[in-house]
Amino acid sequence: MRYNQRGVALVAALVGILACAPADEPSPANGHQVSDHRAGAPGIGDTDFPKDGNGGYDVGHYAIAIDYTPAGRRLVGVTTVTATATQGLSSFNLDLAGFDVSAVTVNNAPATFSRNGDELTVRPARPVDNGARFTVKVSYSGVPTPRSGTTLGTYGFIPTPDGAFVAAEPNGAKTWFPANDHPADKAPFDFTITVPAGVTALANGEMVGQPTTAGGKTTYRWRERYPMATYLATATLGKFDLRQGRTPGGIPNLAATDPRFRSALDGLYTTSGTLTDHWATVFGPYPFGSTGGVVDDFAAGYALENQTKPLYGGFHPGENIIAHELAHQWFGNSLSITRWKDLWLNEGFATYAEWLWAEHKGTRTAEAAFRELHNRPATAPIWKYPPGRARPDDLFNQSVYSRGAATLHALRKAVGDQTFFALLKKWAADHRYGHVTTDQFIELAEQMSGKELSALFDAWLFQPRRPA
Ligand SMILES: [Zn+2]
Repeated sequence: MRYNQRGVALVAALVGILACAPADEPSPANGHQVSDHRAGAPGIGDTDFPKDGNGGYDVGHYAIAIDYTPAGRRLVGVTTVTATATQGLSSFNLDLAGFDVSAVTVNNAPATFSRNGDELTVRPARPVDNGARFTVKVSYSGVPTPRSGTTLGTYGFIPTPDGAFVAAEPNGAKTWFPANDHPADKAPFDFTITVPAGVTALANGEMVGQPTTAGGKTTYRWRERYPMATYLATATLGKFDLRQGRTPGGIPNLAATDPRFRSALDGLYTTSGTLTDHWATVFGPYPFGSTGGVVDDFAAGYALENQTKPLYGGFHPGENIIAHELAHQWFGNSLSITRWKDLWLNEGFATYAEWLWAEHKGTRTAEAAFRELHNRPATAPIWKYPPGRARPDDLFNQSVYSRGAATLHALRKAVGDQTFFALLKKWAADHRYGHVTTDQFIELAEQMSGKELSALFDAWLFQPRRPA
């Protein structure tokens, strides 16, 4: 993501750490041994966000069907999650915020369930064996409640007068579908979205067939066939002008703008196409089936790199922010972080992409951007915040972006352009559609350069002071 301007006033409400999930006992039902099945953990293991995601299974696919009425802000949903158990499960959790849950089935059999905060605990009629593939179907309805945090702004499924603005980083997917809501578990998605006729539904990936209209409602089907983190899923709804085609390099390209931003449509389409093709020459082949962007009139003040369809919230996007969001398709979307503290692997790279784009255009070299940052006084706040450990209470701090980008430039100067740009491509290729950590990046940089780089990374990523 990236803020459009500095100093945007953000809504204040700390994201609290909730009390623990209910205790659970192994179930002796159905002749399984007691020790074989136990409750899945209520968190995926990210110590900074202990309740995000869940343990005990790995999601293989999401099928999300929603019917949304902007006038009443009412969402009726049926989400089917297909997963593989990574332990014997007597029960397991999904993350879901708000809504009334009317039914849950596991492998088509009714399951019992309970709610505690954002944790939906599901107890299947028969325990799930370790290694078994299973489907859990959740039926739910209600008025979506977006989230807000001191440093995060408003995010999640955000109702707008004509539809919804859906941007969910870091953990707002649960505001519209039950999920293993953490980037450490990615899966392909199918979306079936029903809206009043005249409203356009824009989800990730590509449209499947043509929209169908019956009884005053239109149903859109979208499919993202590549693995996607839950926070990158979108169903942005409203009145949109569209421009579709292909980038000069041949990648399907879809730009959409709210009527208030109609003047941005052609620029968004053309620049998104140019940048997608350009980054493919720098970072390696584009990882997904389509590209583009959406400008909605919700004044979020930020953009989010929703997979295949970055979303720009209430402003006319310029080249730099488009360069940033499209670079995320490689760094953040194809390569995903395992823990939020490694967020510089997304934001430092996307910010460095802005520097590279300016360098490519001849407006400012990356070295000039680096010097401007490094020349800030030793007392500047950016030096107190080590970007290699993004803080849960200040995740999107400027240090994660700019000092993260400066880390890459310091690395480039240390290893030389040839090794540096080969490293970017190999990093993107080796971990395509997978997960990454900072340690893996340092290891690859040392391996490809033959240099010992721990002092460089330590100074730039982990010390609360200005690097020498
Ligand atoms: Zn970003």
